[in-house]
Amino acid sequence: MNCIFCKIAKGEIPSKKVYEDEDLFVFHDISPKAPLHLLVIPKEHIESMAQLEPQHQAVMGRMMLLARQLAADHGSPEGFRTVVNTGKVGRQEVYHLHMHLLGGPAPLGASASF
Ligand code: AMP
Ligand code: ZN
Repeated sequence: MNCIFCKIAKGEIPSKKVYEDEDLFVFHDISPKAPLHLLVIPKEHIESMAQLEPQHQAVMGRMMLLARQLAADHGSPEGFRTVVNTGKVGRQEVYHLHMHLLGGPAPLGASASF
């Protein structure tokens, strides 16, 4: 499978990794849209939120739970924004599910986009 984020999670393509465990991999977005811009991905290849099944509940929960610690550890202790783009309508570009984690330290732009 020719998926860039699968290759990043396996270390086959370099990335600025900040966290890894059995299920998740976290790295800096190559084109940051905020002072802090991380991507949190499941190691399992899931195309998008539109492909989620009940067995993905735990890994999705773990992604959400990790956000606070990542933000705090990387200079955004007073809040952050999470975004998951899904499909054509959501303007998803990379079809391996990922959560954008955007942070300050200063408040982000008012728009819900980034
Ligand atoms: P999305 O539009 O939600 O699919 O976002 C894809 C994100 O992946 C964009 O913010 C890109 O800057 C980021 N991206 C693409 N290729 C890489 C890469 N090799 N390393 C890190 N981030 C990447
Ligand atoms: Zn993948």
